Amino acid sequence: MNIEAPIQTIVADPLPRRQTVGVDVAGVMVGGGAPVVVQSMTNTDTADVDATVAQVAALARAGSEIVRITVDRDESAAAVPKVKERLDRLGMHVPLVGDFHYIGHKLLADHPACAEALAKYRINPGNVGFREKRDRQFAEIIEMAIRYDKPVRIGVNWGSLDQELLTGLMDANNQLATPRSARAVTREAIIQSALISAALAEEIGLPKNRIILSAKVSQVQDLIAVYRDLSLRTDHALHLGLTEAGMGSKGIVASSAAMGILLQEGIGDTIRVSLTPEPGGDRTREVQVAQELLQTMGFRQFVPVVAACPGCGRTTSTVFQELAEKIQGDIRENMPVWREKYPGVEALNVAVMGCIVNGPGESKHADIGISLPGTGESPAAPVFVDGKKVKTLRGDGIAAEFQTMVADYIEKRFGEGKAAAE
Ligand code: SF4
Repeated sequence: MNIEAPIQTIVADPLPRRQTVGVDVAGVMVGGGAPVVVQSMTNTDTADVDATVAQVAALARAGSEIVRITVDRDESAAAVPKVKERLDRLGMHVPLVGDFHYIGHKLLADHPACAEALAKYRINPGNVGFREKRDRQFAEIIEMAIRYDKPVRIGVNWGSLDQELLTGLMDANNQLATPRSARAVTREAIIQSALISAALAEEIGLPKNRIILSAKVSQVQDLIAVYRDLSLRTDHALHLGLTEAGMGSKGIVASSAAMGILLQEGIGDTIRVSLTPEPGGDRTREVQVAQELLQTMGFRQFVPVVAACPGCGRTTSTVFQELAEKIQGDIRENMPVWREKYPGVEALNVAVMGCIVNGPGESKHADIGISLPGTGESPAAPVFVDGKKVKTLRGDGIAAEFQTMVADYIEKRFGEGKAAAE
């Protein structure tokens, strides 16, 4: 066993971000060294203006910095400018991306107000058209993007991969003395589809700083392989996402595992976590997961962190879980207002700990922390502020009192009073 090792061998920092060409999406920078951007997508019928406005507003409030909406027919294209206008009136200026399949060229041509209102167009090269129509229709969308000065995401998805390209590569592979696996050839086809489409768009006249690429697959190992390869073959800005990630913990774990590895390697300029919500579930969950992924990895700060121990046999009651949950819930609920009212509050660290074993130590490391009494401990909960014990709470009102102390701390440190105190 080698107990002592040089310190650099045990420090794991993320690799430097891959240098990509930045793309301005209506004021939100993607790539070019900008912080990784969080995106989401609605699941409403875009033609239903009320429902779409409500969902985009909810996603933006949750922290989505770009929101994609489906533009699948005349009614939804006609609704896009109305959606944007309503959001503008609400003070929500989140960039809207139009998701086009099959007839995007026609919808953009027939609905100039839609073409203008959108901040970006998403094209799937596998769904633009077939044979001779494919290149012509793709070119028409790119020309629209040039005319309206909009960036484009060329979003390849292996569920709708360009079959002519895939068949050609499979045939060529079959001629090889040692053919590669069908899966490897499919990954190559996905990458080539993105790169060929990007080259075509640039040939038509769309500059590189108006193009973002994505190459989504549904298996974690394939996603990692595809993006590693893609990032070595281009400096276009990259959108990451595991497609069809699934429901609940499965979707969260798969997306986090795949994107976590890529982000750690410096790959990815914007992310979307494609979660399938439970029936009637909250669509904003995908935004929360994307933020938590970036925040737990130390890439960005969105909301104050609540450190809570997992609890164990020493935890005496549910007070501890309830308090941790309540504090976390309060923070999420208040963040849209706090972001404006308390600049910098996202850097706050709160600790809610279950007993004396790790409680005081963890609480001292936090900005404000509480160590609740465990089994056999005296019924007292010391509170630490900026590393010092400031109070001991007792009795039934511990939770409420601690919540008030957190609110006071935020006001004092991040509120208007802060300037006077400094
Ligand atoms: S801090 Fe205490 S209650 Fe929490 S996990 Fe550790 S030993 Fe258990």
